[in-house]
Amino acid sequence: MEDLREKAITYLPGIGPQRAKVLESELGIRSWHDLLYTFPYKHIDRSRLYKIRELTTEMPFVQVLGQFMSFEEAGQGRKHRLTGHFWDGEMFLDVTWFQGISYIKKSIKVRKDYILFGRPGVYGGRLSVIHPDLDDPESTVLSKMSMQPFYSTTERMKKAGMTSRSMERFTSALFNKITWTLPETLPSYLTERLHLMSLDKALRAAHYPTTAEELAAANMRLKFEELFFIQLIIMSYARKRQQQRKGLRFARVGNAFNTFFHQHLPFPLTEAQKRVIREMHADMKSGRQMNRLLQGDVGSGKTLVALMVMLIAIDNGCQACIMAPTEILAEQHLQTFRSFLKDMPIRVELLTGNVKGKKRSAIETGLQDGSIDILIGTHAVIEDNVQFRNLGLVIIDEQHRFGVAQRAKLWEKAGAVPHVLVMTATPIPRTLAMTLYGDLDVSVIDELPPGRKPVRTIHIYDNQPEELYRGVVREIEAGHQAYFVFPLVKESEKLDLKNVQDEFVHLKEVFPQYRISMVHGKMKPAEKDAEMQRFVSGETQILVATTVIEVGVNVPNASVMIIQNAERFGLAQLHQLRGRVGRGAEQSYCILVSNFKLSAETRKRLHIMTETNDGFEIAEADLKLRGPGDLEGTQQSGIAFNLKLANLGRDGQLVQLARDTASFVLDADPELLAPDNALLRRHMQELKKEHRDWSQIS
Ligand code: ADP
Ligand code: MG
Repeated sequence: MEDLREKAITYLPGIGPQRAKVLESELGIRSWHDLLYTFPYKHIDRSRLYKIRELTTEMPFVQVLGQFMSFEEAGQGRKHRLTGHFWDGEMFLDVTWFQGISYIKKSIKVRKDYILFGRPGVYGGRLSVIHPDLDDPESTVLSKMSMQPFYSTTERMKKAGMTSRSMERFTSALFNKITWTLPETLPSYLTERLHLMSLDKALRAAHYPTTAEELAAANMRLKFEELFFIQLIIMSYARKRQQQRKGLRFARVGNAFNTFFHQHLPFPLTEAQKRVIREMHADMKSGRQMNRLLQGDVGSGKTLVALMVMLIAIDNGCQACIMAPTEILAEQHLQTFRSFLKDMPIRVELLTGNVKGKKRSAIETGLQDGSIDILIGTHAVIEDNVQFRNLGLVIIDEQHRFGVAQRAKLWEKAGAVPHVLVMTATPIPRTLAMTLYGDLDVSVIDELPPGRKPVRTIHIYDNQPEELYRGVVREIEAGHQAYFVFPLVKESEKLDLKNVQDEFVHLKEVFPQYRISMVHGKMKPAEKDAEMQRFVSGETQILVATTVIEVGVNVPNASVMIIQNAERFGLAQLHQLRGRVGRGAEQSYCILVSNFKLSAETRKRLHIMTETNDGFEIAEADLKLRGPGDLEGTQQSGIAFNLKLANLGRDGQLVQLARDTASFVLDADPELLAPDNALLRRHMQELKKEHRDWSQIS
């Protein structure tokens, strides 16, 4: 048995230094191990021979046994072609070549058996196969030919004379050389429990399966393995950290919480709100640090949950702090909390970059002597030298604007480690959350407060704005407000600005009777806040904006969201934007305005928006359409998942199985010290060496 990572591919027949160089630069294949893990993208069943009379143009690849009876050449220039008349003993089939004609004429013999392999099509009105592969039946063992692998190749590989067929030769040479059983990475108690194929068998079958069922079982084993080790690594980090971080024990639910719950709550909590509050309380009384991600669609009532969890901290003699990504949001929280709490003896203060001088020092004193119970802040709270007396809970609202490093900085502020709650409305599918935020526990508010009217979403084209404008007038005359949003043109900030400014001028002409605000990324924060405030207060009826409004503003009176160039937005972003309306009791509208020319994928994206208001459904669809690499947040997280087979979008159930299994293994043996788990420990070490960035997520 040899270490396949140490064996260079030049030790395989057919791969010289030249080809090795191309294989490395194109597909990253250097060693036998790399080649082994370069899987075919599809297989085609070659175990069956067809008769010509069975062929239809709907069929993928087929093979037919027969002989060429004659050839004929015709046409000039680009139409120059060679047609062979292929006879299977019953019928003729046209076989056509446009290239390599002289070579074909020389090498193919008439009245000799060939296995023809190709895709049936139509040429010149007749059933025809163009440029087929031809194999000699003498040297082709059909039973061995079943399920032929097809490998991805690149232009440069083709130039170097390497096709899928060449890759097939390389991998079959590789398997001929590997005469020993490839070492297992999973202990037998797991492969047996989960009915998994052995790694040796799975690797061989992933390239050369005998049946479709065997291929499926091999893929399942290999996908599971990829996902399982990610989960095992993330969870073992997370558990270690949890053990190290003793948390404050919030055993009591006392006066503040109970008074609020019984006397101040203006409406009953939804079941989902109750459940997540229970989950958080369980964390906070466990004696370990809470590290929880709270996901809830826009408008699901996260702010109230945050407030109630903070009251638990206060009941246990601690201070709490909530951080918002913008000043506007911070101010909104202040108003919301003060009106919720009414006359309760709880001191809530706001600290942002704008709070200066005497006011600031009063707040700093209040934080240090413990007289402030709840602090609402922006980044300024982290950055400046703010000290608390006994900070027990930190809540981060709209998490995606905060990096992991900033989170860490927050708990450096406290003597003891405070509990941490991260709230996000960016819908992250559970499978992705489990992988990205493996270090956080996840709670989900999957229910909206009763009585919300779902936003009606309509997709229109940009060539007829008149009806759109009439609709806007109707809504504003009924006392509502409207947003006009533009995509950010990343390539050109100038153009971006121009778009918004042009539209601002244009809308002023269209709606001379209304007042219009404008915000864009080039404005100073104070300026931006002031303009937003004019819209929030109702002084202006229309807000023209780039995507700066995306996060969290609450203007319940706004009932129309018009998204221009909607084709340029991703699903997650569209959903976020739409979440700005539908916050009041009135029927709200989201109008997606796009160009008429749309790719199939974009059309689908816009269609999904008109079909559902469910953020998680949208996120799942997004993951399926685009794959996790593109999803917001995954790039920043700095994790190279390096999944070769598994797909976080499609393989959600396997992610769950992998996670449950990792949890089962670590429950029984947290340090993986049992002899049974030696394999796991060793393979984990290897992977950690390969992917240093995994450690960043702990
Ligand atoms: P988000 O989750 O987007 O932060 P908010 O916390 O801003 O949502 O809540 C949206 C609106 O719903 C607020 O006006 C809030 O007062 C209201 N709300 C929250 N919980 C409930 C509930 N259980 N019943 C009715 N309205 C609720
Ligand atoms: Mg919110």
